[in-house]
Amino acid sequence: MAIAHIGLGANLGERAETIQAAIAAMRAHPAITVQKVSSLYETEPLEYPDQGWFLNGVAEIETSLAPEALLDVLLDIEHSLHRERTIRFGPRTIDLDLLLLDNQTITTGRLQVPHLRLHARAFVLIPLGEIAPDALHPVFQKTAAELYDHLDRPTIVRRFEGALAVL
Ligand code: ADP
Ligand code: MG
Repeated sequence: MAIAHIGLGANLGERAETIQAAIAAMRAHPAITVQKVSSLYETEPLEYPDQGWFLNGVAEIETSLAPEALLDVLLDIEHSLHRERTIRFGPRTIDLDLLLLDNQTITTGRLQVPHLRLHARAFVLIPLGEIAPDALHPVFQKTAAELYDHLDRPTIVRRFEGALAVL
């Protein structure tokens, strides 16, 4: 069994509902146990400023899946959430990232763990630090809070109160 931390992000449509649906899909998978879910945070868009604010969170799961099999499950969930909801409720999107997998470092053609940009993203480090305050980034050997303190210009991240009723 491995412990993985999954980053969840959405910026279209009913963002909290989409994130909740992604968590429900992970829970429904026979090889995944969802152990913790962070609060949700509303975060300023980073790469393309001209878009809606994101809702971000992190889930901690236990899984017997191999790393690439876990990635495939995450990509399947992303795909199912894009597809099923576009017609009735308008476009929406979800991004699921495999942030950490125990203290493993993995580099294959389609998977890099720890996630390449985890250490540079306030919107990941804040929810990760909330549910895994002692987890060390295996390359930098720092906690999420320590990595956050090293950010030059952290993006704005604020707690999303609506999440409490949803999750
Ligand atoms: P990003 O999340 O970087 O904004 P995408 O979600 O569109 O961009 O990227 C998806 C691709 O990134 C996947 O097809 C996957 O092969 C690759 N990838 C590499 N490492 C990871 C990881 N740790 N978690 C999720 N996807 C990853
Ligand atoms: Mg992604």
